[in-house]
Amino acid sequence: MIDLAEMAERYRNARDLFLSNARLAKWEIYSIPHPLQGPCEIDLFTDVAYCGNIESTNLLMVSSGTHGIEGYLGSEIQSRLLADDVMAVDRADRHAVMVHAVNPYGFAWHRRVNEDNVDLNRNFVDFGLPLAVNEGYEEFRSILNPVEWDDEYEVKLKVEAARALERMGLGALFKAVSGGQYEHPSGVQYGGNAPTWSRRTMEDIWVRAMAGKHRVTQIDLHTGLGSPGEGVLMTYGTEEQSRIMRARAMWQEILVSPPADTGDVLAKGVLGPHLESLASGRDVLAVVLEYGTKDPVEVLCAIVADNWLHHHAEVDSERGAQIKQLMLDAFYLDDIPLREKAYRRAKEVVIAADAAG
Ligand SMILES: [Zn+2]
Repeated sequence: MIDLAEMAERYRNARDLFLSNARLAKWEIYSIPHPLQGPCEIDLFTDVAYCGNIESTNLLMVSSGTHGIEGYLGSEIQSRLLADDVMAVDRADRHAVMVHAVNPYGFAWHRRVNEDNVDLNRNFVDFGLPLAVNEGYEEFRSILNPVEWDDEYEVKLKVEAARALERMGLGALFKAVSGGQYEHPSGVQYGGNAPTWSRRTMEDIWVRAMAGKHRVTQIDLHTGLGSPGEGVLMTYGTEEQSRIMRARAMWQEILVSPPADTGDVLAKGVLGPHLESLASGRDVLAVVLEYGTKDPVEVLCAIVADNWLHHHAEVDSERGAQIKQLMLDAFYLDDIPLREKAYRRAKEVVIAADAAG
């Protein structure tokens, strides 16, 4: 059970540790205040720490909390990378940037989405063009968006999700449920109707960090998909693209999905490809380092419960505290050996990217 005071304290502790480790490691810091507050009126920020040579043409970025609550593991990894001085502060041949809490509202409120109920990784689209239609979503819309939530409904959802998983396979189910949708603002996996605060903030951070850079690598830390504690690198592209060859040379193991323009609904609106599109002519590689936590049915169940809570009940209630615990269980690794494993993997990925610079 996690009440409002505990949520506020968790966010404050994660942020304070990141900032103090960044200061101790002699990184420079700037903080961008979010217009809204978190639980118990705590102020929210996206914090940016940087080091190395700002004049260098080579940039390495590590970001956390694009999906709000997934930032708890990401933040811990960033703080440990700082404490261990993994990205050496005095490197003359690259500039390094860490973005803490891309979506601070979701982070502090234990939501995967932002203040507009938007999944940020569906928000990086051109809103001047017709928005993608995810036909698979309609079939699941009513089960994913219940009006009532109780223990009985949780069981029903898990049974239905397990059945769909068996019938469709994880790939197809994931596409239908997670592919995003732009028609139902209060539904799960909503992509929004305009660029969000976090997107605009990231665009500003990128403009500032990428000035004069020729070669950029961004690692965005995520959780909730895969085997517990296992960190898998993912990106979009085709094998003949030079950035994909660069990724394979640095890390060997990386999952490469087809780019958005080949019609993969999952690739639309994601932060990484947007960064790559902003920097045409430069060598920009954006990847996700995704850690497994719980099985996909548990994760889905937490997302559905949290969305129900947001639209139909009070967060400051016993049911609310239960659901916020469910969210933490689904997106954080409450197990020290698994977190160690996750950190070792992140360290290896960051060192390989930094060495290749
Ligand atoms: Zn995520």
